[in-house]
Amino acid sequence: MDWYKVRYKKNRLQIILNYCASLPKERGTHCQLWDCKFDAEGYPRVGMTHVHREVLVKKLGRTLKPGYLACHTCDTPSCVNENHLWEGTNADNIRDARDKGRLVLPTVRATGERSGARRHPEKYRGENHGKARLTEQDVRRIRALADQGKKAGALAVQFDVHCNTIHGVLSRRNWSHVA
Ligand SMILES: [Zn+2]
Repeated sequence: MDWYKVRYKKNRLQIILNYCASLPKERGTHCQLWDCKFDAEGYPRVGMTHVHREVLVKKLGRTLKPGYLACHTCDTPSCVNENHLWEGTNADNIRDARDKGRLVLPTVRATGERSGARRHPEKYRGENHGKARLTEQDVRRIRALADQGKKAGALAVQFDVHCNTIHGVLSRRNWSHVA
């Protein structure tokens, strides 16, 4: 289909929906795969029209509830078969994806005051931090050497860490619990 010819048509949505309905069904899955334009996530989209969403709107005979998405039962973003679309929230979609093993998400990531680093600082600080390359002893030595005038760059080489690590130690952005 030549989408530029459709762009300014009044009945463009109907043309798009008819095109969806005319797409051949995949053997086995019955998915009808959109074969034109896609958005960055691989969902069918022409201009501002989210095609699979419009297919679901037509099927339901009403607009989607605020905050709801057109979700795929077949996990195929490009599918525009109305029977494979359902109305769900983003949370529904994520739960569905996880149930199907399509998505492995960490459990809700707590940030700010609720973060693990705040509630259990002893677990995450210093040497217990998963990525720590320095020991508390190193940190004390780095600070002592810096006090004697040694430059951060030289300390980075000496302790085999990135310059930013040294700056973090010296500014006490990191390792603030080490005296
Ligand atoms: Zn499908």
